[in-house]
Amino acid sequence: MTTLDSGPLPAGAPAAPTALLTPRTLDEALRLIAGGDAAVLGGGVGHALRRHHRLPAKAPALVSVAALPELTGIAEHSDHIAVGAGVRLAACAADGLLSRTWPVLTEAAGSVATGRIREMVTLGGNIAARDDSHDPPVALTAIGASLAVRSARGGRTLAVTELDRLRADELVEHVRLPLPAATTGSAYEKFLVRGVWEYACVNVAAVVSLDADGTVDRLSLAVGSVAGGPVAVDLGGLAGGRADRALVEEAAARAAASTTPYGDVKGSAAYKTRMIAEFSRRALTTAIRRAEAAAGRPASTPEGQR
Ligand SMILES: Cc1cc2nc3c(=O)[nH]c(=O)nc-3n(C[C@H](O)[C@H](O)[C@H](O)COP(=O)(O)OP(=O)(O)OC[C@H]3O[C@@H](n4cnc5c(N)ncnc54)[C@H](O)[C@@H]3O)c2cc1C
Repeated sequence: MTTLDSGPLPAGAPAAPTALLTPRTLDEALRLIAGGDAAVLGGGVGHALRRHHRLPAKAPALVSVAALPELTGIAEHSDHIAVGAGVRLAACAADGLLSRTWPVLTEAAGSVATGRIREMVTLGGNIAARDDSHDPPVALTAIGASLAVRSARGGRTLAVTELDRLRADELVEHVRLPLPAATTGSAYEKFLVRGVWEYACVNVAAVVSLDADGTVDRLSLAVGSVAGGPVAVDLGGLAGGRADRALVEEAAARAAASTTPYGDVKGSAAYKTRMIAEFSRRALTTAIRRAEAAAGRPASTPEGQR
């Protein structure tokens, strides 16, 4: 029988948060989390999962931030796109600006769980949970996104890979995506062993930008569901060459060699290493095709060669 109720709380189990605080301004929210007795509440799915797994509550009070104006909306600026940390993954996945500029992010957001869960989960909450198998952080790592974070003491910027530096009195205000070069392609691949919604066995994001003559100007690959993930694969020396089959093979081999998956119910570490290579190939091939289409060039890696 499948049940979402784990039964009665064991004796001595930690109590659930006692207060839900709904500040009207960002300053008020920052003051509330400054004291250390309150944790940030995005969509609440992660907090609910903690309760379900009988883990201690993060804090005696939760401060709801998703509806604050500074954390909502997706806006294009002169050199970046800002995505509010309170934006729900369903809205990310459906956004026209994001799907034109960074399909790798809309695909990652759209691959999370089910439609009902995506309507609740916020981008900020998905990132701040710091779970190596979460999907959007893998895409954001390949994009080279940064986080605008804020506390009552002021704001600062962190790379998306520097989340361990986020302090308890800080929240993520928005995610900054660089504007991609016109001839950029990006793609996300999530391998689900059972083919239904679940956390990834492996998840891979790729970004490729081409020069006018078709050589690779920029190339990045990020792998999730591995130790210390998401991991940005070192592809040093590969830019400047042709966007061909040899480049895809070399990048996929480096992804497999430089990441450390862990064995679990979705597969052994050795199996996942093979899947990392395979799904890196797929993500890169799609990203290259998209970059070539954006540049008006014929595809150099036809479907059959994948
Ligand atoms: C059935 C199920 C399936 C799932 N499948 C997937 C999946 O396939 N892929 C995937 O990526 N995820 C998946 N998830 C996980 C989900 O994305 C995470 O639980 C996510 O962290 C929930 O986001 P939230 O906005 O609800 O966060 P919350 O529960 O509100 O918060 C999560 C954590 O982030 C902190 N936080 C929230 N917002 C901010 C902010 N703006 N600044 C700083 N800290 C903040 C909170 O304090 C808390 O520690 C699944 C969850 C469920 C229940």
